[in-house]
Formats: sequence, C-alpha cells, structure tokens
Amino acid sequence: MHSISFALDNLKSISNYFPFSLIMAPSLHPSVDSGIQKGDAHKAGGKLYCHCPNNKVEVTLGSNVAHNHACGCSKCWKPSGALFSVVGVLPADQVNVTANANKIHIVDEAAAIQRNACKECGVHMYGRIVNDHPFKGLDFVHTELSDSKGWQEPQFAAFVSSIIEQGFHPKGMDAVRQKFKKEGLESYDVLSPALMDLIATYTAQKSGKLSSKL
Ligand SMILES: [Zn+2]
Ligand SMILES: [Zn+2]
Repeated sequence: MHSISFALDNLKSISNYFPFSLIMAPSLHPSVDSGIQKGDAHKAGGKLYCHCPNNKVEVTLGSNVAHNHACGCSKCWKPSGALFSVVGVLPADQVNVTANANKIHIVDEAAAIQRNACKECGVHMYGRIVNDHPFKGLDFVHTELSDSKGWQEPQFAAFVSSIIEQGFHPKGMDAVRQKFKKEGLESYDVLSPALMDLIATYTAQKSGKLSSKL
C-alpha cells in the first residue's frame, strides 16, 4: 500500500505530491520499527546509562516499568531519527542515581514532569512529578538506556497527533497509525483510556464530584 510497493520510476512523480520522507517508511522508534520484543514479567529492574562516552550518568531501577508506551509529545526524549519516545513508569522510590549525579540537571522546572537529563549528552535519565498530580509518586524512564533486556514492551501509542506540531506532514499520519496497529499498539491522541480515566477520577475526587473512597 505504501512506499515499498511503488516502482522506482514512479518516485519522481509521486514526490511532486508527497515529501520524500513520507515515501520512505518513517522511523517511529527503534523498539517498534522492526517488531516489538515481549518483555519478561519477572524482570526485577536494572541500570540505565546516558550516552556520554565516559563518566556516564547511571540510574538504577529497582523494578520493571509499567504503562510503557510510545509518546509523540514534544517534551519526551527521543533517540535521533525517531518520531516517538518510548517511556514507562515505576515508583519514584525505585529510581536512584548511582553514578555521576553531578551531571544531571532539570530541563524545565515548570513542566508537570521534571525531566532530569545529562547536561553533556542531553539524554533524559528520569522524569519526576513534584507538584500535586494524579501520577505523583511515579517516575518516567526510557528503558532503551539499559544494557539489559526483558523490560515491559510498549503497550500503546500516546499523543500521536502531536508529531504534526513538531513538523511531521499530516498526510503521513495514516501510515504512522497503521504501523502501530500492525505492531499491536492502539494509537491515542492523548494517553490511553485507562490513564485518562485515572486522571479524570483524580480531578473528580479533588473537586468533590466523586467520593475519595471508591
Ligand atoms: Zn551524558
Ligand atoms: Zn511524551
């Protein structure tokens, strides 16, 4: 249906209508592009490393992640060439910086999720919520920074339409959503229904529309 089936001699005329980047299959994320590897439900954690050639920031995770997902928002860290980040959560008390903590800084103090990144290579090591928020107590991490396998595989794709805001051509969106579908991931333009329900429940309990005990 897409690029691959088009004969080369058609490329020139097609590219009059579509930018070349849409004719090539876009890279969503390395962990999605060539098929998703199932994680290990018993994985007990591991270490993340920044991309510096030496004196790497090391973060030790005390458990596997949950709600791992592809995210198209503009704030999450993405590997170069990828349209999406892949990010999961775990309890903040299971996240410890265990080497070169002096290289960490907060990218945007005002953001709901404070992304703690390496000052030198720019990789985001963990995102932490410090203000009142339904996800307070959970840290956001990118398990691709680990040297070990078995982390929970991506479960869904979030903020998919947001890639347009970052310059992706809207005509390529069908191909992006179809690729996620092919890999077994639902695409959402916010978070997944389960997470949106959690946020709405938190809001309703805060305003008193729902009892704090459900
Ligand atoms: Zn670094
Ligand atoms: Zn994001």
